[in-house]
Amino acid sequence: MFKPVARFAAESLRYSAELILPPVCVSCAAPVTRHNLLCAKCWGGLVPITAPYCGRLGIPLPGYDGSGPHLSVQGFADPPIFDRARAACVYGGVIRKLVVRFKFEDRHEPLPLFLRLMRDAGRDLLADADIIVPVPLHRFRLLQRRFNQSALLAQGLSRASGVPASVMALKRTKRTKAQVGLQHDARRANVAEAFAISADRRRAVAGKRVLLVDDVITTGATANACAAALLAAGARAVDVLAVALVWRGAPAFLDEGEDVL
Ligand SMILES: [Zn+2]
Repeated sequence: MFKPVARFAAESLRYSAELILPPVCVSCAAPVTRHNLLCAKCWGGLVPITAPYCGRLGIPLPGYDGSGPHLSVQGFADPPIFDRARAACVYGGVIRKLVVRFKFEDRHEPLPLFLRLMRDAGRDLLADADIIVPVPLHRFRLLQRRFNQSALLAQGLSRASGVPASVMALKRTKRTKAQVGLQHDARRANVAEAFAISADRRRAVAGKRVLLVDDVITTGATANACAAALLAAGARAVDVLAVALVWRGAPAFLDEGEDVL
């Protein structure tokens, strides 16, 4: 009963703050015309992923000429457990700065921008999805960080698309090491069998096409481990949607700064 009241109060406060505070770029704080936008310079620092891209992994295929299978070499030779992955941008530069703030510094200003980018990049996936499920944090890490950034993305996408979200469906069954500095095989081993479906949520995913939501896809190992758990619980198929994706062919200007994922 109090939830709608609290939400209304929070929305009103946010609205009042937006009326008082002039809009600034969510990355560099330069003046812009509306709230939740990037300035032209920061916008130019994004590398959006647009067609052509690998139909399975969502990575750009800059040399693709339209003939043959629409797949990257990795997507063909080592197909993932999930069906399709899509991300809005190549990871690095401005988007890395925003993700790091969002994930590690408790700063939520980029959330509306992330949701807008994800809705565009994931239009087909959202249209086909029966339920949206975020990649979970282990409860110890949840205590440290106080919120699961992927759950915020999942809830926002659910509100915008009308597709229901089940933020508690997946849980981490073991505390995995941070993926920083781990190579592909080590990342796979690190997250293998790290996820399970809560017993009381199995019905929520059984027979459903699940859209798994994460902030960044690095090697796809986490998404694969989550997809394996969802399929084992009876999900019909799993797609993956993220703000950004790590790509080896990323332009050099995205490489500044340290990788902290
Ligand atoms: Zn800016």
